[in-house]
Amino acid sequence: MEGRRFVSAGRRGKGLILNLDDGSRIVIRFGMTGQLIVVPDGFPEEKHTHVVFDLEDGRHMWYIDPRMFGKVWHIPSGMEDTVTGLQKLGPEPFDGDLDWKYLKGRLGNRSVTVKEALLDQSVVAGIGNIWSDEMLFRARICPETPCCRMSDAKWRKLAEQIPSVMEFGIEKNAITPEEYLKGKGREYYDIDYLEAYGHEGDPCPRCGKPFVRSVLGGRSSFWCPHCQRKPHNILLKDGMKPL
Ligand SMILES: [Zn+2]
Repeated sequence: MEGRRFVSAGRRGKGLILNLDDGSRIVIRFGMTGQLIVVPDGFPEEKHTHVVFDLEDGRHMWYIDPRMFGKVWHIPSGMEDTVTGLQKLGPEPFDGDLDWKYLKGRLGNRSVTVKEALLDQSVVAGIGNIWSDEMLFRARICPETPCCRMSDAKWRKLAEQIPSVMEFGIEKNAITPEEYLKGKGREYYDIDYLEAYGHEGDPCPRCGKPFVRSVLGGRSSFWCPHCQRKPHNILLKDGMKPL
């Protein structure tokens, strides 16, 4: 990459794409703890820095990742991307194609829970654990609901909440480059504005009943059993495990 210039930057799902002037590109997936910061020369060294780009003006761009769930790729010009996973992503939350009919068509026959389906990046790109809980709370859908038990009305509500909750999150997480560098990209997350996520035992802002937590697909989900009722007869036939 020596001598190359960054010409543009973009995003797909949770992946950052940095385009270089020779048509090649750098793709970064940040995992849980990956951060990318541009630092002045002589900036105090940071533990867990795995990739360093030396920039023309003396600054450096560091990829830092304490837990190392992230990945960095350089895809040469003209080479098809078969490695980053970006090629398998579903539509973006803001795509016009993403409507309730798409969701129902993709998921309506499946028994997977709606919470796990929202985290499936091949269904919708970019939704993570926190924002999926917020979407389900606003749409008043129990995260444990199997997709095949969702009514058309629920798919509609969910499809409306996907872009609006993502937009809300982007707005609330807005931060200046200076603040980002000061916190080294990680000490800015403020969850005061989250209504459901992280609120186990707290009163629901809508009905006052306490939030509960359940684990779905290995991830914690926070929800209000009163506002987000489980569908009836979810608990079923002999031999089937209750949810
Ligand atoms: Zn409630």
